[in-house]
Amino acid sequence: MVEAQQMSQPSWLNESELYKCVHCGFCLQACPTYLATGLETESPRGRIALMKAVNEGRLEISDQVMRHWDLCIQCRACEDVCPSGVPYGNLIESTMDRLRVHRKIGFVPRLAYEISLRYLIPNQRNLAIVFSMMNFYIKSGLQKLVRKTKILKLISDRLERLEKMTPSINGKFFRAQGQFYSADVEGTEKIQMLSGCVMPLTQGDQMRAAVRMLNRANKDVEIPSNQGCCGAINSHVGGLEKAKELARANIDAFSKGNDSEPIVVASAGCGARMMEYGHLLSDDADYALKAVNFSKRVVDINEFLDQSKLQPGEASIHKIVTYQDSCHLANVQKVKDAPRNLIKSIGGVDFCELKGSNVCCGAGGTYMITEPEMSEAVLTEKIRNLADSGADIIATANPGCFMQLDNGIKAAGLDVEVKYVTELLDETYKQK
Ligand code: SF4
Ligand code: SF4
Repeated sequence: MVEAQQMSQPSWLNESELYKCVHCGFCLQACPTYLATGLETESPRGRIALMKAVNEGRLEISDQVMRHWDLCIQCRACEDVCPSGVPYGNLIESTMDRLRVHRKIGFVPRLAYEISLRYLIPNQRNLAIVFSMMNFYIKSGLQKLVRKTKILKLISDRLERLEKMTPSINGKFFRAQGQFYSADVEGTEKIQMLSGCVMPLTQGDQMRAAVRMLNRANKDVEIPSNQGCCGAINSHVGGLEKAKELARANIDAFSKGNDSEPIVVASAGCGARMMEYGHLLSDDADYALKAVNFSKRVVDINEFLDQSKLQPGEASIHKIVTYQDSCHLANVQKVKDAPRNLIKSIGGVDFCELKGSNVCCGAGGTYMITEPEMSEAVLTEKIRNLADSGADIIATANPGCFMQLDNGIKAAGLDVEVKYVTELLDETYKQK
């Protein structure tokens, strides 16, 4: 191990975590960017080697070096398979935070970046305005016109590609207003639920289906007000201070009243972030302990329903269904069996495993927007495997994966539906 005294510049990384990597390479075949490129520099081992080189003063942080870290999807598949227990998620998060001072970006992109991360994603009211405008754009026929005329291609290919990622808006927005959904069963357990940022606006119907399943599992559900974005997006792109601020706000919002109730999360990426609030706020004297307690309460909805022995309804679904592991559910929360158990419990379902279901789909939060080429390269392999599977439905547990798969399926012209596991369960309770 390299001793701290040997470093030629102060480290922003936890060296005991960094030097756990012994460069064995067991993680290579799990890494989607390595699989897509075959390049060592786009692998976990290569990215860690660059961190070490910078840490030891052998390498300057250049645009080229940053590029290799930026291309990491932060899926954490490498962490899941690493025999040395390298906490890669912590390392890349700290690295991205550090890079903020090194990035040379123009005034306008910097402004757009700061506004999005500080005032848009963390503010549900502002975000709702944006998604209302998006809804108008889709429903008014403007989207059809833009796509038919290919007008955006005249401006730039990138803009046209971005437009294709416009998410569909499913039903009315789901708002966190302190509402209570009763299971109408006496003496039942009460749980709290995260609403989040993007999911309640783009997938309000799916959020309501998730609440209905919790009620079906005989749980009363409270949606605390004053909650908000979990902070995952900010921490992925190097905004750790803002992520901490959001974490503190959520800890306060979910700790009013009974602060021992489970906090159920329907979005795998958010659940993973919230389970690590303890680490995120470990240097905050006021919140460190609260954060550890909070994280212990967080549970993914699929795991919760599986443990609650939820029985599906009577309606059958006579379809071939497959499942794409959401990286932050499988690799961080280690929840792999529960969603599969729930799908298989549905009458009529013919479940088939998807080849490479544990490999990332390329969504990575905002990655699909910021790194469209690599995101698409990773997605292409996923869609090829999906087509080979013969599935009618692909189930998932995270809004980013949902949107990415939906985009890929549409672009490839496949006749496959994307659904949440909870949405499928909800359908079994509907009259046919
Ligand atoms: S991250 Fe883990 S698996 Fe990958 S090279 Fe380092 S020690 Fe080996
Ligand atoms: S987090 Fe994912 S993309 Fe990044 S190095 Fe690890 S396996 Fe590769």
